[in-house]
Amino acid sequence: MITVSLISLGCAKNLVDSEIMVGHLHKAGMTVIPEAEKADVVIVNTCSFLDSSKEESINAILEAHQGRGMRKRRKEQKLIVAGCMAQRYQKELPGALPEVDAFIGLDQITKVAPIIVEIFAKERAKNAGGEPAPAPAFVDRHPTYIPDCDTPRFRLTPRHYAYIKIAEGCNHPCTFCIIPQIRGRHRSRTIESVVAEARRLVAEGVREINLISQDTTFFGMDTWERRPDPRTPVDSARGSALTTLIRELQAIPGDFWIRLLYTHPAHWSDELIRTIAGCGKVARYVDMPLQHISDRMLGAMRRETDSARIRDLVKRIRAGIPGIALRTTFIVGFPGETEADVGELCDFIRDTKFERLGVFRYSQEEGTRAAKMDGQLTAKQKESRWRRVMSLQKEIAAEVGKSCVGRTLRVLVEEPGVARGEADAPDIDGRIYVPKTLPAGEFAEVKITGCHDYDLLALPPGETPEEFKIAKQAQ
Ligand code: SF4
Repeated sequence: MITVSLISLGCAKNLVDSEIMVGHLHKAGMTVIPEAEKADVVIVNTCSFLDSSKEESINAILEAHQGRGMRKRRKEQKLIVAGCMAQRYQKELPGALPEVDAFIGLDQITKVAPIIVEIFAKERAKNAGGEPAPAPAFVDRHPTYIPDCDTPRFRLTPRHYAYIKIAEGCNHPCTFCIIPQIRGRHRSRTIESVVAEARRLVAEGVREINLISQDTTFFGMDTWERRPDPRTPVDSARGSALTTLIRELQAIPGDFWIRLLYTHPAHWSDELIRTIAGCGKVARYVDMPLQHISDRMLGAMRRETDSARIRDLVKRIRAGIPGIALRTTFIVGFPGETEADVGELCDFIRDTKFERLGVFRYSQEEGTRAAKMDGQLTAKQKESRWRRVMSLQKEIAAEVGKSCVGRTLRVLVEEPGVARGEADAPDIDGRIYVPKTLPAGEFAEVKITGCHDYDLLALPPGETPEEFKIAKQAQ
């Protein structure tokens, strides 16, 4: 029996691809084990979004080859590189990484088992210098694959939460981003397929369903008869749409949260705001990457929206969905960014008080339009702007944390002593420290008693800190 060990890097979307590979390995009768050194095959599912993620991927590949410490990779062990990096550098990698036995593109994740059988069957020929010939690359040039509800998949997340990839690819032209070139054009699953998967997950005991894709608000629009442009708002009158999907998920019986991740601001509509407000299972949390607020920067980034629309949208979301927590990301140090642009961004952050915020230093990615732009900033400039925005957000996060003290919240207990609220996405946002007696994987009601940086402290309502201390000592 062939044993396989899989190392999954990058975002939740890549994790779903890893889960699909593991599902197919199981289906083919292979055994997946955590110890890379004992496996017949090691698969590294790579990320290639930024320079730092490429570096992490290369290090993981080299470590899988060389092993940790003094341990060398066994001669007969096969090494496979999958994911975004195999897709993006399909021409370059086979020559550059002779230690790898095969490369698997994004459309080949369901063929992982026959590919393994094939590489064991065919020993690679050696060329004249005694070096092995470059490894085969099982990679399609333009990916089109999208999973379905009956795609074999083995979940790698804890039992109580799961990701559902509702679409793949992206049609936006953001000048800093390489994703559309790697993952291809946007393609959505059907509403029936997503709902069937959600139903099954809820029946298995999942308490939180995270809807993911590159552009969640564009869900379904690629199937509309009249082609939408990159600014078209969500509108269920025109065909399949995120709003229809949310309403159908809301109708699934059971106690669970639905969380929306990666919503592009250009597609938000009043219908979407009303739908979220009216569907109690949708977490009062929205992840909406804005990237900047200065019109100069939004134009240069080709974000398909502008400052006035974003400001108006934020006001409409806050007014239309009471209690909503807004998460966003910004990029600082984009080519041509001035101190005035950063000042405008800081004023906007100060006024809006995002409950959750991430800041990236711009990364000059080869193959993107922004990489060729004039006005590239130095690493030092990017760093100082990043620090400026981060220290501002730290103050805001402390204010947001303090404003939670005294409130009673419903939380999902992650593990003994640690929970998340509706405002905290898994692996992204803060934590709520709770008594270890609360059962993991279940919802609980707690009262927030204190805060520390991005985290909160909480007790079941009615319990005093002294009782908590006594209970903690007894644990
Ligand atoms: S919306 Fe823009 S940043 Fe997001 S994946 Fe598409 S091109 Fe990249």
